[in-house]
Amino acid sequence: MSEKETLTAGSLLVHRNTIVTQLPQLDLPPHLMEHYHIIRKRFANPIVEMRNGTCLGCFMVLSSHNQQKIKSGEYDMCETCGRILYYEGY
Ligand SMILES: [Zn+2]
Repeated sequence: MSEKETLTAGSLLVHRNTIVTQLPQLDLPPHLMEHYHIIRKRFANPIVEMRNGTCLGCFMVLSSHNQQKIKSGEYDMCETCGRILYYEGY
């Protein structure tokens, strides 16, 4: 089946996303900063962009509540994978 192809595509995307992780300065609220230290051990890319309402870490569509919050310029956690999301205007 196409399981192998899916895995390859997934790892390529994850790889590409690691470039985005290096933010110049983290201005996270305390509860997210704490969360960040936990998830950065789990993910190579603990902070990812939200694009088209989708988490670029796990590629799940975020709830509209979550999307609104992130679009307003706040950082928020992905409800699916727990990565911290930010918004670049896409
Ligand atoms: Zn996610």
